[in-house]
Amino acid sequence: MRPAPAVDFSPGGEPRRLRRRALRILVPIIALGLVGTALAALALRRTEEDRLDRALDQQTVAVERTLSAEMRRYSTSLQDIAGAVGAQSRLEAAEFNAITATTNRQRLPGATGVAFVVPAGDAPITAVQRFWRESGNPGLRLRPTPGAAEHLFVVMAHPIDGVGDAVGQDMAASPQATAALRKARDTGQVAISSAYRLLRDANLPAARQQLSFVLVAPVFATSPGAPDTGRFRGWMMMGVRGGSFLSEAIGRTAGNTVAVTLIDQTAGVLKPFGWWRPAAPIDRDRAARTVAIAVPQGKWVVAVEATERLLPDADLHLDLVAWGVGGVITLLLATLTGTVITSRNRALRRVDAATAALRDDIERREAVELQLRQRETELVGFAGVVAHDLRSPLARIAGYCDLLRDEAGPRLDPEHRDYLERLYAGAQDMRSLIDDLLNYAMAENQDLVTTEVDLNRVVAEVVRERVNGQGVLQPKIVVWPLPSVEADATMLRQVLDNLIGNALKYAPAGEDPRIEITGRPVDGGGWHIEVADRGIGVPRDQVDTIFEAFTRARGSERYQGTGLGLAIVHRVVERHGGEVGVAANPGGGSRFWFSLPPVRCRVPRPGSPGG
Ligand code: ADP
Repeated sequence: MRPAPAVDFSPGGEPRRLRRRALRILVPIIALGLVGTALAALALRRTEEDRLDRALDQQTVAVERTLSAEMRRYSTSLQDIAGAVGAQSRLEAAEFNAITATTNRQRLPGATGVAFVVPAGDAPITAVQRFWRESGNPGLRLRPTPGAAEHLFVVMAHPIDGVGDAVGQDMAASPQATAALRKARDTGQVAISSAYRLLRDANLPAARQQLSFVLVAPVFATSPGAPDTGRFRGWMMMGVRGGSFLSEAIGRTAGNTVAVTLIDQTAGVLKPFGWWRPAAPIDRDRAARTVAIAVPQGKWVVAVEATERLLPDADLHLDLVAWGVGGVITLLLATLTGTVITSRNRALRRVDAATAALRDDIERREAVELQLRQRETELVGFAGVVAHDLRSPLARIAGYCDLLRDEAGPRLDPEHRDYLERLYAGAQDMRSLIDDLLNYAMAENQDLVTTEVDLNRVVAEVVRERVNGQGVLQPKIVVWPLPSVEADATMLRQVLDNLIGNALKYAPAGEDPRIEITGRPVDGGGWHIEVADRGIGVPRDQVDTIFEAFTRARGSERYQGTGLGLAIVHRVVERHGGEVGVAANPGGGSRFWFSLPPVRCRVPRPGSPGG
């Protein structure tokens, strides 16, 4: 039965085994590529996150510093005014306006104005009103807050943003302002209120209303000539709108990189009151930073959030770029590997197909060879049978020719005697051909019957028989000691008979044949037997073909022969497991040799050559 093919060549598709192998290589490559890409993207994402976090931290510090510095600047400005007001022996509207005019030159974004606030104390409101009307503000009309424990009247004011009029207001209406005023008076320091809607903004449209705070600085009389030197006189108060303050203070520095929320915690609760919201969208993935702002006697925190413009190149999304590049590289790698595997698979399939075709071819040739061999055996057998059947009629022809020659020869005229001689010679030729054919058929078909054969004895017999038929020639034959071998005696005799016969036959015309027969052991066992002569030699290009049946070499035309002798030698030696060949004999002639394997050989007894 023929073995199953290595590849499944089922019609209509890629062999499944190769596809599975390709997948086994491709899947890890793609997985590796994707994992590598994911790691690279992750690393880039981490780096980008770190950079963004650092940038947000830096911006938060900048916001904190800017707001704290601004708050210090506002407080200092207010304190300076409070100092100047306290230095007046009697504060008149004109002086107040001159002192507070400095705020026009200072940039105080969000500031609504500065005002001088006095406590009414136990004095009647009308007395207070009269006192301050006489100080240069004749139109003053105090508007006391009903039910207030202590009235805190704005008696002079310098507007900065020009919105609303605070003069005459009772700050007791605002608990946040009242608390800040009291804190400032109690501590003698600037204080800040918690966030609230300014009283003066009450009439503004809702869209323009903001949460604000007031900064208050206590005013103490410091003029040496004044009767109240060293006493508390009131407060300088500055109203500031939270949103405007924040936008102006940090809008320019922070730009659109962060969003900021000002949160007041002065009253103990978180109260957002100022917002900076740039146009860029807020980055919701990043936690907001909160940091405390230094404000006088108050508590502020600021919350800073990153926007998507925090880093100029952050929107490049390097992780996405990594995914893209990694994906493309993985795809290219997979395509390349796929192409290599496909080509390899295609080559494998071609090799498999070629191997299968070769196997078929070999099987076909073996079958043909077997057939030829059978036919050859049949033909050789047939030739043997024919030769055998021709033998006896031929023997009769030759016999009668011989008889005729002996008895009628002397009476025949020369021409008829010549005819008779030719007839006789033809019969002889035919007999040699028939003998050779029979021997060839025997060498081909007959079973080997092996016995121990002493080559010395066989050679001696052959030489004796052959030399007797050499006529006038005096052959010189040297035989060196030869081994005993395990072989078919009859067939081996034919081998030596043919080789020695040829060596005698192919001597140059008119020369005595000179022959040397030797045997030598070969490495690894077995024997090499050689028949060397000084004959006409074999053309170099025919050393192989002369062992084929009916083949004769150039130059041997004038010698009798059938072209079967060496074919018999070849076949017999081959059937004994040996080899045959011929080489040129240095100095002229040929060296025909044959070998026999170890099991066919016995070591010869030591001796000297015979002749
Ligand atoms: P043949 O009957 O012609 O001798 P062989 O088969 O014995 O047939 O030899 C084949 C041919 O080999 C011969 O015709 C001859 O040309 C050549 N040959 C064989 N033996 C010798 C030799 N000893 N010297 C030269 N030529 C040889």
